[in-house]
Amino acid sequence: LFILAIESSCDDTAAAILQDNKVLSNVVANQSIHGEYGGVVPELASRAHQQNIVPVIEMAIRKANIDKKQLNAIAFTQGPGLMGSLLVGSSFAKSLSLALKVPLIAVNHMHAHILAHFIEEEGYDKPEFPFLALTISGGHTQIVKVNDFFDMEIIGETTDDAVGEAFDKSAKILGLPYPGGPLVDKYAKLGNPKAFSFTKPKVPGLDFSFSGLKTAILYFIQKNVAQNPNFIEENLNDICASIQHTIIEILMDKLKLAAQQTGINQIAIGGGVSANSGIRQTLKEAETKYGWKTFIPKFEYTTDNAAMIGIVGYHKYLASKFEDNSVVSKARIPF
Ligand code: ATP
Ligand code: FE
Repeated sequence: LFILAIESSCDDTAAAILQDNKVLSNVVANQSIHGEYGGVVPELASRAHQQNIVPVIEMAIRKANIDKKQLNAIAFTQGPGLMGSLLVGSSFAKSLSLALKVPLIAVNHMHAHILAHFIEEEGYDKPEFPFLALTISGGHTQIVKVNDFFDMEIIGETTDDAVGEAFDKSAKILGLPYPGGPLVDKYAKLGNPKAFSFTKPKVPGLDFSFSGLKTAILYFIQKNVAQNPNFIEENLNDICASIQHTIIEILMDKLKLAAQQTGINQIAIGGGVSANSGIRQTLKEAETKYGWKTFIPKFEYTTDNAAMIGIVGYHKYLASKFEDNSVVSKARIPF
């Protein structure tokens, strides 16, 4: 069974070919243009998708070494995301499904960040249902109880900023370019995580809040730069390590509570921020510390990619969950 998957929800144009649950090709075209603006510019993102989509899909098919006539279905990201970006992927998926006379499958991007764990990969175990998923990305921070492929419930989520935004906005305060998350990670590796401390938000239950942390970091930097204009340069590694340490503690506190409340000790992470080396290491250590079995995705399946859309497509295909051509993109989509 060959599936072409298309992902265009934000600023990356991505296409993948899966044969059943295995990835034959996984191509991503990043849009560097947004770096100049300090964030994703929707208008520029949809334009870049239009330029990239045909070559990216052609490359995915070529790398998979198949002919497009062999495709059995087309899966695409229906939402959530930027409308102008989503429309480029969905329109292309619809046209190709019509032309090739193969079924069309609509995929929820956040389900895909979670179900990426079901991609067949050597050396990677798949979680068993039910498990808990911590989805940490540019737009979301959720703890999800995953009962089955299409039976998931959000048991905790952010009340304001997403954790990816917390990373990116902190980086911006430090004068680092967008997206700053990977840079904070890079400098944090060289710094002391206990050098500075930031108060953690007090949010009841399993929900999160990150906007207060961002403000605390802003005031901390402003105060110190007023005394020493070189404060950031002289302490960049320690500042990044301390910010990252605080974010990881916030995430771990809630994960521990979720595991306790649900009695589930299989924990998976997903989404762009799960590329963070500190989070990956902390979660690995939690196996011996708390007796969890943890699932950490391969790097290329953390930030936006089409392979994760393809694996959901595969399971939807098996369950005959198809769409007709009137299906519409959704900037927000019910979970
Ligand atoms: P969503 O999935 O919520 O719609 P998105 O698709 O824009 O949002 P992803 O691509 O899943 O987001 O994740 C991007 C985010 O991940 C950015 O905020 C980026 O800074 C962050 N990120 C990527 N790598 C790292 C890293 N190593 N450490 C910290 N953050 C990272
Ligand atoms: Fe994403």
